[in-house]
Amino acid sequence: MLKFGQALKIVLRDTKPVETEWVVISRAHRRVLAEDVIAGNNIPYTDNSAMDGYAINTDDLKSVPRELPVVGVVGCGKSVNKRLKRGEAMAIMTGAPIPAGCNGVVPVEDTEAITSEIVRILRKIKPGKNVRYSGEDVRKGQVVLKRGTAVGAAELGMLASVGRKRVRVFRKPVVAILVTGNEIIEPGERLRPGKVRDINTYSLCGLVEKFGGVPLPLGIAGDEKVKLLRKMRKGLNSDVMIISGGVSMGRFDFVREALTSLGYRERFWKVAMKPGMPISFGYIGRLPVFGLPGNPVSSMVSFLEFVRPLMMRLVDRVLDLPEISAFLKTPVVKKDKKRHFLRVKLDYRNHKYFASLTGPQGSGILKSMVECDGIAVIPENAKSLKVGNRVTVQLVA
Ligand code: AMP
Ligand code: MG
Repeated sequence: MLKFGQALKIVLRDTKPVETEWVVISRAHRRVLAEDVIAGNNIPYTDNSAMDGYAINTDDLKSVPRELPVVGVVGCGKSVNKRLKRGEAMAIMTGAPIPAGCNGVVPVEDTEAITSEIVRILRKIKPGKNVRYSGEDVRKGQVVLKRGTAVGAAELGMLASVGRKRVRVFRKPVVAILVTGNEIIEPGERLRPGKVRDINTYSLCGLVEKFGGVPLPLGIAGDEKVKLLRKMRKGLNSDVMIISGGVSMGRFDFVREALTSLGYRERFWKVAMKPGMPISFGYIGRLPVFGLPGNPVSSMVSFLEFVRPLMMRLVDRVLDLPEISAFLKTPVVKKDKKRHFLRVKLDYRNHKYFASLTGPQGSGILKSMVECDGIAVIPENAKSLKVGNRVTVQLVA
């Protein structure tokens, strides 16, 4: 059977980033940058004070306490023309520009006002103390944000700081999701024998949004080929299409057949992984299509391991989930040559992570996804693991 790593390579092989668009920065949260953002100025623009206090020359503080005449007040928002002469001080506010001749700011707390014209400096400071130098955050010409960066709160702030009104981002990939199965009913419907409520539309839509896409739910198709085809056609203009269920060995698993009559060129079916084994991947024209196994956990895990990296590639983002190394608190039984993806809860104690399984790991136990902090990846060649063995855990929460 195809190994996980080979399958992922096939998924990523022919994927190119989607088109880009301009957005105003107030709309850029959670978008992905399609350009390197370059600073047009030094930030801070000028040297300025990090404290409310007194601008001085440190050479005047050979011995303290030292009384100095206060020859001016430097407030925020204006440039300062007056030069500080030796033996003088100026009152200065946080963020106000440093006057020429000053090389340090003594905080108010380390001074006593004798009169409004004389200050007593109580403590020495080193040259440069409490001065924020021009360019110490960002240098003119520097790339402050790289293409492929997901814009969060700090990135929004940085875009504003370098004076960007608009920024180039990738269009959000549209991911169509069709669920299949004669047994599947809407969440609002009453359960009857043989029926299950549709989970995958919701969990998969959630994953698509979480990773920066626009979900396009196509609804529930039964297991008849005609209905499958009709609904599948509605997803053909998206960037990725996911069909959940109907790709296993069941008598009514017609998804691959239906796809084939739409011109599906299957690149693989079945991967040596657990859960998620009967996954199918291929193309209809240039549209990448995934047939994900219908069990809710298999659907989510195979999404995380295959669809998510493809979505990342569509916007030039880093492919890998963040990972940590953890010590097992539950033994793991493994007898096959598949890659296993176990749902674990993490604790952090004594500078170490510990991973315990979230109870039964069956691919229908959705609770295992609800309760997990991460997914422990057990490699193909690993055998059963003992308590205390190390595992790599992908952080998915
Ligand atoms: P399948 O991959 O179609 O053989 O489905 C495998 C299992 O997952 C069956 O028990 C289905 O009832 C269940 N299943 C398939 N699709 C969904 C869904 N959208 N929501 C909840 N369970 C599903
Ligand atoms: Mg089915």
